[in-house]
Amino acid sequence: MKITVGISNKHAHLTQEQIEALFGKGYHLTFFRNIKQPDEFVSNEKIDVAGPKGILKDVRILGPAREKAQIEMTLTNARAIGVEAKIRVSAHVEGSSGVTLIGPAGQIELKEGVIAAVRHLHMTPDEARTLGLHEGQRVAVETSGERAVIFKNVIVRIDELFSLELHLDTDEANAAGLKNGDEVTLV
Ligand SMILES: [Zn+2]
Repeated sequence: MKITVGISNKHAHLTQEQIEALFGKGYHLTFFRNIKQPDEFVSNEKIDVAGPKGILKDVRILGPAREKAQIEMTLTNARAIGVEAKIRVSAHVEGSSGVTLIGPAGQIELKEGVIAAVRHLHMTPDEARTLGLHEGQRVAVETSGERAVIFKNVIVRIDELFSLELHLDTDEANAAGLKNGDEVTLV
């Protein structure tokens, strides 16, 4: 089965309270565009993310607001601003690095929240049944082209709201010469 690649650029998930601290009291994220996963959207709002060695400019916020902040970046981004990005499954930010978030109306110190998302495969329960896969399983996918590789340790994520898609970050995609919408195969 062919699986489409979705490449994640650096982005932030924030709580409503944090959004208001950065953009002003009563502020709500505004819609920019959909992503393939229907439970999330790209907002118009961007913040700067500061670490001890530098600032990542224009980090896009994904909506809707979440229960807990999570700043997703590549290992290259993290090195550039002098923080560590632990490789984690989404929402597992315990013990991760903190950063300063800078918005047009204020800034906040985040105690933890910086992660590099573990490479993962979104799918519906139906697709999981068809492929014989279960939640949290690690699989491998093979890419093609001049920089063809096999990505191991791809975590299977299953939800009714998901759409079949491999999520890689820009470091991983560039290393394999992949662009959005390219297709890979399950090994
Ligand atoms: Zn994802």
